[in-house]
Amino acid sequence: MSSPTYAETFAASFPTLTDFRIMVRFLAPGFMPPGVDTDDRVYRPGNPPPLAVPCPNPRCRGGGFDMTGVLSELARGQRAATRTMRCGGQEGRTGGRHGAPPCYMGAEIHGTTGNGAPGSPSAD
Ligand SMILES: [Zn+2]
Repeated sequence: MSSPTYAETFAASFPTLTDFRIMVRFLAPGFMPPGVDTDDRVYRPGNPPPLAVPCPNPRCRGGGFDMTGVLSELARGQRAATRTMRCGGQEGRTGGRHGAPPCYMGAEIHGTTGNGAPGSPSAD
């Protein structure tokens, strides 16, 4: 049994993305619980990003940051792409359907491609 690694799956999904660096910088205005890992995340071809980076806020439910916008821009040949977004999750488990406050976490996603020559589309 040899199932592909995630890096291989990622490479198959984005065949034009052979050289990239993607950094996720978390933006956490206001109160941050102690011990939360909000260090920047850096992803490279050997360690590709998930399509949605989980929200680091431990109280967040249903949150995360969609990477597909930046990834598809880079895959189309852009040398750099940046997105800033708010987490779509909610904090806490109290409150009813609309009672929980929104997650305060945000993220700036910055992706660049190196020498993965855009403009040479058919390499297969
Ligand atoms: Zn969140």
